[in-house]
Amino acid sequence: MNNLILLGSTGSIGSQVLEVIDFIDDNWNIEVLTANKSVDKITEQALKYKPGYVVMTDPKSAEQVRLNLQDQKIKVLSGTKELNEIVKLDNIDLVINGLVGAVGLIPTLNTLNKGVKLGLANKESLVIGGHLVQERLKEYNKGEDILLPIDSEHNAIFRLLKAHEKKELKNIILTASGGPFCHKSYHDLKKVSIKDALNHPNWEMGNKITIDSATMMNKGLEVIEAHWLFDIDYDKIDVVIHPQSIIHSMIELIDHSIYAEMSLPDMKMPIQYVLEYPRVKEGIGQKLNLIKQAKLEFFEPDYKKFECLQLAYQAGRKGGSFPVVLNAANEVAVAKFLEEKIEFLEIPKIIKKALNSHRHIKKPDIETIIEIDSWTREYVEEVV
Ligand code: MG
Repeated sequence: MNNLILLGSTGSIGSQVLEVIDFIDDNWNIEVLTANKSVDKITEQALKYKPGYVVMTDPKSAEQVRLNLQDQKIKVLSGTKELNEIVKLDNIDLVINGLVGAVGLIPTLNTLNKGVKLGLANKESLVIGGHLVQERLKEYNKGEDILLPIDSEHNAIFRLLKAHEKKELKNIILTASGGPFCHKSYHDLKKVSIKDALNHPNWEMGNKITIDSATMMNKGLEVIEAHWLFDIDYDKIDVVIHPQSIIHSMIELIDHSIYAEMSLPDMKMPIQYVLEYPRVKEGIGQKLNLIKQAKLEFFEPDYKKFECLQLAYQAGRKGGSFPVVLNAANEVAVAKFLEEKIEFLEIPKIIKKALNSHRHIKKPDIETIIEIDSWTREYVEEVV
């Protein structure tokens, strides 16, 4: 039996992890499920998978889950502190971090500190604490891969790099779908609605990341993620718009050969890769039919229209506390957009304002990151 801790089990990634586990024949024992407020969904999951623990970050929801599971031998814990600590359980083979947002960082660090393998879908861990994650990887990586990326682009690059040495690598090329506004002009973006922004052409994901795809902040965060994950300069990370989302990313070698990883857009493939790693087994995902697909297109991103992408490159290059502010300001701005408090094009404006107003710190430790994160959230609340 392999013991798994699944953080964020009711979210889009978490639910798909469970779907993949139902499909594969490995013996996975799910030791921990966690959620914030999704009482009904986690109750259903707990009754099916019988974990040792359920953690709800929201205390009121925890009470409700406790009632629902009172005749089960399942411990129900509550609060962010419990979420951070739960990854320290003994005899765990894999932690999958499917949390959304900055809350994912401490569980990531605690998992790596313990030397346990981590399947990472929480890109914010690397965006705001990349230097801390990298430090731990250098300390604990004993020749085997301890950090396995689930984000589809990074999963693709991870796989492609397996076949090559770092000195052979010239560039990595992250593909972006361009989101629902790929073919709209800057002017058109002035009057887009929440419904328009949530209507992603290729990927079905949670609301926050879908808005991030519409602004292309998602790709910006992924550029920073790639910088830390693969220890590579920002000058060597390119973004290309590929509306079909068939190529999940590419690497270019110094002899100008380009390697691409292709499949239908479905997160279950990278999830299965991480669960089966280092083996590759019969896939749950649908087969890509190249003849039916027929067309693969590539465009340069419009950095004026997608200002968030530009802001992310700038914040990443400056490093230190800049990406922390970028991420927190974006999280609040996206929430405000979803509450119809601000317009779509105000998202980058607000982030820019926060970046320009904060006092830069070069190598923030975990406490400082949390401080800067909450300063930014308060600042953006005020600005809105
Ligand atoms: Mg991605």
